[in-house]
Amino acid sequence: MDTGMIDWSLRPGWWVGSWGLALFAAYVALDLSRGVLSAHRPTAMRALAGAALALSTGMCAAHFVAMSGSDLPMALNYDAWQVFGTLVLAYLGAAASIAMAVDRTRRPVRGLAGTVVLGATLCAAPVLALVSLELYPSLNWQVNAWLAGAGGVVGGVGLAWYCFSRCRRAASGRTLAWQAAAAVPMGTAMWAANGLVIRWVGVPWEAMSPPSAGSVNGETLFALASLAVPSLLALLLLSSVLESRFKAALRRAREELQVAAQTDPLTSLPNRTMFETWLLRATMRADRQGQRVALLFINLDGLKTVNESLGQAAGDAVLCEMGKRLRSMAGSRDIVARAGGDEFLMLLEGNPSPDDSAHLANRLLKALNDVCVVDEREVTMSCSVGIASYPEHGAQTKLIPHAAAAMHAAKRNGGATYCVFEPRMVAGVHDQVELLRDLRRAIQHRELELYYQPKIHAASGQITGAEALMRWHHPKRGMVGPHIFIPLAEKFGLIQALGNWLIEDVCRQIRDWGDSGLRMRVALNLSVHQLRQEDLVDRIAEALARHEIDPHLLTCEITESAAMEDTRTTLRVIERLSAAGVHLSIDDFGTGYSSLSYLRQLAAEELKIDRSFVLDLETSADARAIVSAVVKLAQALGLKVVAEGVETEAQQKILCTLGCDELQGFLFAKPMSAKALTLWAMKDEGPRSLDFRPSLFDESLSVAPR
Ligand code: C2E
Ligand code: MG
Ligand code: MG
Repeated sequence: MDTGMIDWSLRPGWWVGSWGLALFAAYVALDLSRGVLSAHRPTAMRALAGAALALSTGMCAAHFVAMSGSDLPMALNYDAWQVFGTLVLAYLGAAASIAMAVDRTRRPVRGLAGTVVLGATLCAAPVLALVSLELYPSLNWQVNAWLAGAGGVVGGVGLAWYCFSRCRRAASGRTLAWQAAAAVPMGTAMWAANGLVIRWVGVPWEAMSPPSAGSVNGETLFALASLAVPSLLALLLLSSVLESRFKAALRRAREELQVAAQTDPLTSLPNRTMFETWLLRATMRADRQGQRVALLFINLDGLKTVNESLGQAAGDAVLCEMGKRLRSMAGSRDIVARAGGDEFLMLLEGNPSPDDSAHLANRLLKALNDVCVVDEREVTMSCSVGIASYPEHGAQTKLIPHAAAAMHAAKRNGGATYCVFEPRMVAGVHDQVELLRDLRRAIQHRELELYYQPKIHAASGQITGAEALMRWHHPKRGMVGPHIFIPLAEKFGLIQALGNWLIEDVCRQIRDWGDSGLRMRVALNLSVHQLRQEDLVDRIAEALARHEIDPHLLTCEITESAAMEDTRTTLRVIERLSAAGVHLSIDDFGTGYSSLSYLRQLAAEELKIDRSFVLDLETSADARAIVSAVVKLAQALGLKVVAEGVETEAQQKILCTLGCDELQGFLFAKPMSAKALTLWAMKDEGPRSLDFRPSLFDESLSVAPR
């Protein structure tokens, strides 16, 4: 039997077609492989399945196209199950290789394993495909030549995975170029593996066998390989392109959102959140390099005035202009941000010396001070700057508060200047935090006490009543005055608790005095925050009723500035207090800006002239003129006038001459405990010159009997 071999005569056009198909399959597989790195597991698995499908179908299709291009003197029939098995093996090999080579860890050993697995799959697939040819006698393998070629195939795959790894690291514009570069060696290796096998296998002359029941002929496979597989690949590519476009649009939208969340919409400068991120990075860099970072806290002086006089839009325009100026002053590495309101931040990197920061602060002061035109009007702004340096002025988290403290110091110095941070600038803040903590405890532990300062009838010198003034017996600091803790309580929401305690304690004291036969009229001070308290009047009325006190014995003092702050609310509260029978006094009169028409509407009984006018009475004609005018005004409005802070007999004389009704001050008595005042009233243990008005002891008129 002649066992000579058939000489494969290859038609070049078909071979080029096979190569093109292999290149296309490799490109599609690599495109899908990019999705394998997705953190979303189902997406990654989908991408892996798609990439393996593209590679395996491409591998087999390239083989069948090449086979059809070989001029053989017989019809080719394949065993359908074996062809399917080849496809499955190609799929598994491709999937394993991609899973190994396309990996986040980028370990070379995985890349190598992926290369070997895919190289072996590429070489094995055409062998299996040929084995599934129904031939008798079987093929004549030229193993040595095949093995030599396999080395080249593995090399090509290795080069492909290398190029693909570059594609993952490349800038976005170069990704596709690297992907195409990877597709060339991979597609070529796929095609060459087929060529090798087909070229070096010997087909015997008489190799023929009739088609079996489960066979599929070469033409059908060629049709599938040249039409169905390219269509499938095109579909896979389309889905991959659409998915990556969708992902890119999503990423862009997310980035835009992120930028918007970190940008100040008015000035388009970074906001405080973004600035803090930069600050953290800058301080970490500074730590590594042993360098300094400086932070400038810039506050515009008088933006409130611009807002009030020219309107909010003008204020916004000023802020935008100032933001632009600051940005233009900043160096290329410096960061400018808007911290909120009228505050800006500037971060200086590159080891700025204290002189550099001071020099820049001076330039900022000048630049921001330049005239700025808003709505054709010239506005001149100034700013106060605080400077804090890292690491000298504290930890990274303290840098912004410390620069802010320095800015406040600059403001206290009159503004339009800069200050460098010093530890003493925050000493008060720590103190405040401690004091606030103690105050909360003091309210619970009853460390507060009311002192009473008598009010004197000017003409007779007799005591007519007393003003309740709060005192705090601090366990360590001793006696703390209300000018320290009342503003703190107002700022940190403790004033209501304090005010409620005050109302209760004053009423209890009036009742105690009443029970011992003293009809004392008491004034209590109301804070502006208490005036906004919805249930203030009800609380006072309840306390009066609970202690069975005549409401006329209680006076509420409201400072003139508090009465002016929210006139509608104050009017309503005062009307309700008046309706409840409680008296009203306007405290510190002359320091606020009452309008006469408003004053007329207030149902007040008393005006208390501020101590500052009394203080200057002896020396200043102006002060005398003011007091005289206030007395006349009060008389015209039918109000009683009380002068507070009387310290000398000369002041007393002038005030009496000017027509004041009552006087209050250290000249007569300092604020004292309720016990001291009781002893004085009962046993006459007070200044000899002072008497209590007889009416104060008129029990029948005083407190309602229990
Ligand atoms: P005020 O209501 O105008 O009280 C008068 C202040 O002047 C009191 O200071 C009193 O001790 C002081 N004083 C009275 N006569 C003289 C004097 O002849 N010479 C000098 N140098 N001072 C005199 P105090 O007790 O430190 O209270 C300061 C302010 O704190 C009060 O001013 C009042 O506005 C506020 N305050 C005091 N107690 C309370 C309170 O219970 N509630 C509220 N909301 N504020 C209170
Ligand atoms: Mg008062
Ligand atoms: Mg006062």
